[in-house]
Amino acid sequence: MALLQPARRLLSAAAQRHLCLAPVAARASSWWSHVEMGPPDPILGVTEAFKRDTNAKKMNLGVGAYRDDNGKPFVLNSVRKAEAQIAAKKMDKEYLPIAGLAEFNKASAELALGDTNEVIKSGRYVTVQTISGTGSLRVGASFLQRFFKYSRDVYLPKPSWGNHTPIFRDAGMQLQAYRYYDPKTCGFDFAGALDDISKIPEQSVILFHACAHNPTGVDPRPEQWKELAAVVKKRNLFAFFDMAYQGFASGDINRDSWAVRHFIEQGINVVLSQSYAKNMGLYGERVGAFSVICKDVDEAKRVESQLKILIRPMYSNPPINGARIASTILTSPDLRKEWLEEVKGMADRIIDMRNQLVANLKKEGSSHNWQHITDQIGMFCYTGLKPEQVEQLTKEFSIYMTKDGRISVAGVTSGNVGYLARAIHQVSK
Ligand code: PLP
Repeated sequence: MALLQPARRLLSAAAQRHLCLAPVAARASSWWSHVEMGPPDPILGVTEAFKRDTNAKKMNLGVGAYRDDNGKPFVLNSVRKAEAQIAAKKMDKEYLPIAGLAEFNKASAELALGDTNEVIKSGRYVTVQTISGTGSLRVGASFLQRFFKYSRDVYLPKPSWGNHTPIFRDAGMQLQAYRYYDPKTCGFDFAGALDDISKIPEQSVILFHACAHNPTGVDPRPEQWKELAAVVKKRNLFAFFDMAYQGFASGDINRDSWAVRHFIEQGINVVLSQSYAKNMGLYGERVGAFSVICKDVDEAKRVESQLKILIRPMYSNPPINGARIASTILTSPDLRKEWLEEVKGMADRIIDMRNQLVANLKKEGSSHNWQHITDQIGMFCYTGLKPEQVEQLTKEFSIYMTKDGRISVAGVTSGNVGYLARAIHQVSK
């Protein structure tokens, strides 16, 4: 009879208590107890602190997105019009191919290299649509990890965009650096860069920002690019161009892609990441491209096949909407014209804010040389302010920026540039 009783009745009281607790303990146990809290993203941390601040004069100069002269996010007219055209067509939302929208890829390569470029004409390149610039860099980094058989080392400018290191590291590459920014002049350390690059082991990978270097706003001049290209060629280095700001630096898409085109003209077969986040304001649409310039069409076909094999298990295929917007703009003459004017408008506003900032600093009576503010280009400016000055700006003036003294000039407006200059003068006099 006892044998037929429920098993629990045969157990001691202690054993029964254990049995009762067992499932609870199992539920409370964790697979992730060893996972430590990671540090917050430095830039998003700035935004969080800014949001909490109640000062009406507060300024967020940390974010990397364009703002209009009222400090508001800006959607381009050309983008609105392209969206309306796309909506009117009532297109389906089927998957794109693995490599993305073909007309977008072609238009992106033409935008970067110029449509009369020999590379475009001969077809010795492959372009795939990617998840904005970050996705492009990651696809590129993974492609190098899988197929660049000569070296694991990627040389970044010092400093570089904060995401470059984890992108390449997570893809299995090793990070090295070459001198780039000179804190003494707040400008380009040309001699240091040349010296370092000429010592990089042959057949290593070197990364360049095509224009509007982030975070410093410091770009080489064309004569300096020429010398850099010559060293890269001499050392047989592999050049990876990150072009996240074409048109955004000078307002001229051809001028901003000059370095990439020059390298190719010199016979250097580069790879290139493009982003439409800034120059079309398509931040959240995640529109970008990755291109590999090859020896010939056959090589391009083989590379394309392997890029597809790499992309397929990562995200299968890229999103459709933003690529449609970008390709509609790039391929319709009226929209393209309007877009080019709008890009120039954004770049010009930033250049104007740089000029106004320096003029206001002078008006405040600052005796420092602020010329680097107008010499630098693009969305970001390395002010040269020290961490304690940055802290004071935040504490006393509610002006938020990253600790390295980088400001996003896109966050400066004709309404707040005077306040910013006064505050900078107060902490730096
Ligand atoms: N590369 C650089 C140098 C950047 O500054 C950025 C954005 O800030 C990117 C790439 C990629 O941006 P996204 O992924 O938004 O296109």
